[in-house]
Amino acid sequence: MNNKINKKDIGKLLSEWSQEFTVFVPSRESGVVKLAKWDGTDTSFVDWYRNTVIPAKANLFPPMEEMFSFQKDSKGYRIELPAVDEHKQLIFGIRPCDARALAILDMTFKDAYEDPYYLSKRKNTVLIGLGCTNPYDSCFCTSLGISPGESNDVDLMLTDIGDEFLIEPISEAGKGLIAKTNGLEEATEADEATAREVKEASYHKVTRKIDTEGIKEKLLSSFDNQDYWEKVAAKCISCGICTFLCPTCYCFDISDELAGKQGVRCRSWDSCAFPIYTKMPMENPREEKWRRVRQKVCHKYEFYPMNFGIIACTGCGRCIRQCPVNWDITQTLNNLPVKV
Ligand code: SF4
Ligand code: SF4
Repeated sequence: MNNKINKKDIGKLLSEWSQEFTVFVPSRESGVVKLAKWDGTDTSFVDWYRNTVIPAKANLFPPMEEMFSFQKDSKGYRIELPAVDEHKQLIFGIRPCDARALAILDMTFKDAYEDPYYLSKRKNTVLIGLGCTNPYDSCFCTSLGISPGESNDVDLMLTDIGDEFLIEPISEAGKGLIAKTNGLEEATEADEATAREVKEASYHKVTRKIDTEGIKEKLLSSFDNQDYWEKVAAKCISCGICTFLCPTCYCFDISDELAGKQGVRCRSWDSCAFPIYTKMPMENPREEKWRRVRQKVCHKYEFYPMNFGIIACTGCGRCIRQCPVNWDITQTLNNLPVKV
């Protein structure tokens, strides 16, 4: 049998978990919703939260991160690695689409090279999922095999059943967390039935759709259709917002920040939308905008599935909601195939 908790007691639950974890919750900072460190009191997100603008990837792969610091002395350079980040974090309220995005990022950061910066945080992260009951018009997660009310990519899954949240353990870590958490009630058969109805209703609230059947092949056959990609890219202003806010995008740049004889090597988010992203000494293979827009779409729907067997898009819709010129990836995909 699952458990439940009254929404009024969420603060107590978070306080208890704060004994062991640094707890992150949906928060508005300067009007932007992100998963920020819980202040110990505010649980108002229970009433207003739909999804974050800044995805959970920022909690594991920050926009800017120190890789190491260095100092020059008479013997050369001394390098100091940052202390391994061993603090345990608990992310409360992650949506199923964003939890899937972390599962996709896990594949990326565990591939040929195991990224210690991301993986050290990931292994110390507990994900508490919260099912969507009010998806945006721009959401299309169900086309990517994701249900807004369910997730296997979290440790615990919560469903809004009115005055209470039903709590389901998903992973072994989730079961362990439940076993040591006080103040939870046992859910009743009626609660379970309500949760099933809520999940079913949420699923049908996602009305935007794409057809992923044969999408790799369609993109492959449309790859050289310059006219199509120029039309698709026409209104994009190459601001990079869609990639920065995409929960599965992971491109980064590395730079040295110097101050006299010492400095810090940092990595920071980068974007394939930028004209200089692929600049090399002899050439830039993606100088024209249409090639960059094509890369963004094909990377998610063609190249990533070829390498990892999964589409690197979760249908979270941020790239539609946040684009300043209303560029829409679902239109680009739904207009395929195009004649070459
Ligand atoms: S957010 Fe819109 S305008 Fe900016 S790079 Fe993406 S598609 Fe282009
Ligand atoms: S491409 Fe757009 S819809 Fe897909 S995961 Fe990225 S931001 Fe979300």
